[in-house]
Amino acid sequence: MAVQHVPADLPERIQHFIDGEFVDSLDGATFEVLEPVSNQPYLEASSGKRADIDRAVSAARKAFDEGPWPGMLPRERARVLNRIADIVETRNERLAELETFDTGLPITQALGQAKRAAENFRFFADLIVAQADDTYKVPGKQVNYVNRKPKGVAGLITPWNTPFMLESWKLAPALASGCTVVLKPAEFTPLSAGLWPDIFREAGVPDGVFNIVNGLGEDAGDALVKHTDVQLISFTGESDTGKLIFANAAPTLKGLSMELGGKSPAVVFADADLDAAIDSTVFGVFSLNGERCTAGSRILVERPVYDEFVRRYVERAENVRVGDPHDPATEVGALVHPEHHEKVVGYIELGKTEAKLAAGGGRPQGLESGNYVQPTVFVDVPPTARIFQEEIFGPVVAITPFDTDEEALELANGVKYGLAAYVWTSDLERAHNLGQRVEAGMVWLNSHNVRDLRTPFGGVKASGLGHEGGYRSLDFYSDQQAVHISL
Ligand code: NAD
Repeated sequence: MAVQHVPADLPERIQHFIDGEFVDSLDGATFEVLEPVSNQPYLEASSGKRADIDRAVSAARKAFDEGPWPGMLPRERARVLNRIADIVETRNERLAELETFDTGLPITQALGQAKRAAENFRFFADLIVAQADDTYKVPGKQVNYVNRKPKGVAGLITPWNTPFMLESWKLAPALASGCTVVLKPAEFTPLSAGLWPDIFREAGVPDGVFNIVNGLGEDAGDALVKHTDVQLISFTGESDTGKLIFANAAPTLKGLSMELGGKSPAVVFADADLDAAIDSTVFGVFSLNGERCTAGSRILVERPVYDEFVRRYVERAENVRVGDPHDPATEVGALVHPEHHEKVVGYIELGKTEAKLAAGGGRPQGLESGNYVQPTVFVDVPPTARIFQEEIFGPVVAITPFDTDEEALELANGVKYGLAAYVWTSDLERAHNLGQRVEAGMVWLNSHNVRDLRTPFGGVKASGLGHEGGYRSLDFYSDQQAVHISL
């Protein structure tokens, strides 16, 4: 399929941004970036190696040691963060256009990303000003207090799904805390990260505080993880990559925050508001092209409503509109990259041998090229099936019946992941009982995916280590020194 919309002024080259300057890799290396509708390369990005990471880390280190960023009053840093938020919001249309072009995300869904990114900066600006630390007094003997300090240079490694927004979720608390940063964006989608340097300059972020090194995970990402002068790594990506990073960070004993993969269950009981449950579970796996970490990609349905749920769900899935990502009518666009498309199609073919295909299962008609797949529904999926167990990260859902609350819990917990869970029932007691026993970092009862930024965000089991969100994020980027004095 031909590309319908090419953003104006698209760069042909993306460079690193180090110490306030755009620079090439020291060895001049680049990699090609593809656009997911035509799968043609449209951009050369600088391919960072160890030497480029060294350069960026030393700029970040210098900015940390010589200031002013880490020593600024929280109120002053908050002003800069609020300016960043204001500028991000003015780039909403441009960001959405670039994000849709680079990732294949439907334009209507890309349009919300700037607002969410701006909100992340505003939220951490507020939080850093309101930050209070503990003081303890032993009457007549001692005073003890916490001296909070930024940790140093933060390495931020991010994935390709909603890249700009996910970068903001790490940049905002790292910068609010007074750290300096080196960001390594995902190599499939480096385009929107190219907006940050101008935004930060305009907002008054000093040179060296924010640095980007583009490149492959095994080169630039690996060098950042192993660098002796990087105090912590905040990583979002696949669980297997997380394991490798965990091992590679061990020799330098870094702080690690890991937001990893998921295979989240949506449990629908017979007493649920079925209309709401169907709306939510359709959205839960088909929005953002199904390339969503918290996707409810397994739906467990109580037997008495199973047939009705399946019939209505399949009808909805068949009506989800797949098409050009820039078309406002499109609900599922093109998957990010041919490699990822091949992976998702591979799971669909596997699913046909493991369960019953009820909708989709191939390439949508009229979209003969590009990374398109039909919204796909498998039903009667046994819990032993790989499509039940493994993260597919596309518009593919597995539906399985259950008979009792205990069986629902067993099925929900019977995978290695534990990121999110969704429960649909009109019985409040049952909702809380199941919700509290399900192995998931985040649970939504009769609701989906909207959350207050003060709540913990993160997974358990193979879905992650540590929590972000609210003060947890600020704690991750800070050292809390205990100071004691005798009276
Ligand atoms: P990925 O693990 O392939 O890559 C993520 C980032 O890690 C990229 O920037 C990549 O270059 C880098 N990387 C790869 N190998 C590395 C190495 N050896 N050392 C250092 N860095 C390395 O993940 P992806 O395919 O880009 O993203 C999709 C995954 O992210 C899915 O599993 C999804 O569930 C997960 N995700 C999780 C959350 C969450 O909050 N839990 C949010 C979004 C995405």
